[in-house]
Amino acid sequence: MIAELRIDLAAIRRNVAALAALVAPARVVPVIKANAYGHGLLDVAHALDGSVPRVAVYELDEALALREAGFATPIHVLGPVAPAALAAAHAADVELTLWDRGAYARDAAAAVRHGGAPLRVHAKIDTGVTRLGMRVDDAPAALRSFERPEFDLAGVFSHLAAAEELDSTFTHEQLERFARATAGVPAHVERHIAATAAAMLWPETRLDSVRAGIGIYGLWPSPETERVMRERGFELEPALEWRTEIVLVHEVPAHTPVGYGCAYHTKRPSRIGVLPIGYAEGLPRNAGESAHVLAGGRRCRIVGRVCMNMAFVDLTEAPGAGAGSPVTLIGVDGPAAMGADEFAAACGTIAYEIVARLPAGVPRRYADAEPAASTTRLRPSPFAR
Ligand SMILES: *Cc1c(COP(=O)(O)O)cnc(C)c1O
Repeated sequence: MIAELRIDLAAIRRNVAALAALVAPARVVPVIKANAYGHGLLDVAHALDGSVPRVAVYELDEALALREAGFATPIHVLGPVAPAALAAAHAADVELTLWDRGAYARDAAAAVRHGGAPLRVHAKIDTGVTRLGMRVDDAPAALRSFERPEFDLAGVFSHLAAAEELDSTFTHEQLERFARATAGVPAHVERHIAATAAAMLWPETRLDSVRAGIGIYGLWPSPETERVMRERGFELEPALEWRTEIVLVHEVPAHTPVGYGCAYHTKRPSRIGVLPIGYAEGLPRNAGESAHVLAGGRRCRIVGRVCMNMAFVDLTEAPGAGAGSPVTLIGVDGPAAMGADEFAAACGTIAYEIVARLPAGVPRRYADAEPAASTTRLRPSPFAR
């Protein structure tokens, strides 16, 4: 084995249900862009098909792959679509994002053949991220220009810049701008602005629906969000485990250089394990600075510079781990556990980036079993080994 991901689809469904209960009567729109945050687009989508009002992806290609696989739930494409592909988007019954009334909106209208069903669109307003979206001042006129037979205005939406920060006033400023921009929009048009963090921390942002990404995978948008929500008794279930296997172990004396640049030297007689994954497999190149993995039920440090396809782990404290032993990068190993958040922080990044960069080619094993009717908090792993 090089590496393997194990993904619990039932946990994802339970996270969606927990979020839905939290934000009701607002609805949860799962965000499954970036290969469902590394969890696998088609399998995650299949697990949600028919039970959610809509899903959001970034690219048209993701939406077309879903349709090809028979996915029937409405799909909102958050990002831009090449003009030449707009007709294919319309034919696949995909909902698109419009952010101005210029050439892109005209191309989108032109993609709707005369007499065809209107294209469902969500108008995006930039209330403060300075990313996709029309300016607040331009919104009323642009929204009026979308009132044409080729378009069905399904939603108006925006995105928040600082919803993880509880002491920031910017979220309310953005909400107020959004309300101003959309004041003339009929009430039946769906309004959505919150992602996971806002949906959790700022109830007034829930509006008609929330676009929940990171939370449905059982990961927290920030440590602050985790602290506040767990204090309130709200829990998520991480759905992904990431493992590899030790290729071989070197027993070396103190002061032995390890890896490129001799960036690390053993400080004592050591057992150095070689791992068959590197930055091409999603392990950040700087993981050797302070990240740990689990081996033999112990936390063991990654050492040296991570290579393209290999890395090193100090197994001195895990005498039971040898060639062929499993190594857990995210997940549990006996008494030890490593969360995506903690692993990401040790690599100087956030869980979002770690999971989104897990290559599509890593084998993914799925479990999709609901726990027995009498659930206990400590369920056995659905991947009983
Ligand atoms: C990615 C994304 C989301 C989901 O954000 P999470 O923090 O993962 O919940 C919501 N809305 C937009 C526009 C996004 O790009």
